Amino acid sequence: MKIAVDIDNTITLNPKKLQRLMRALKTSGNEVNILTGNADKEVPYDVRMKQLADLGLINKVDFDYVYVVNGDTEKEVAISKAEILMVEEYDIFIDDSLENIARAKKRNKNLLCLLPY
Ligand SMILES: [Mg+2]
Repeated sequence: MKIAVDIDNTITLNPKKLQRLMRALKTSGNEVNILTGNADKEVPYDVRMKQLADLGLINKVDFDYVYVVNGDTEKEVAISKAEILMVEEYDIFIDDSLENIARAKKRNKNLLCLLPY
């Protein structure tokens, strides 16, 4: 399976538990990627990598790839995330934004969406 996990208000809410979940999913043969994006501030890829490291997550142990999407509005970010999730045929999406989940679900009915709270 392919799993996408958001950072802000998702991993940051409970980094230890998300790390354990992500590592377990990877260890059992799944692809776990980070899918993050903000409308209010553009955060570069290297800053996101440092943020993940600061949260204790280890590249290639806890996750495979990091996708940083940008947009001028939350709607644009949600659309970009939904596009990636559909085109790359993800199975599970963990994200705190109901708008992100609604847009992703609209594009991919088979996607399992989980809120981190
Ligand atoms: Mg978030």
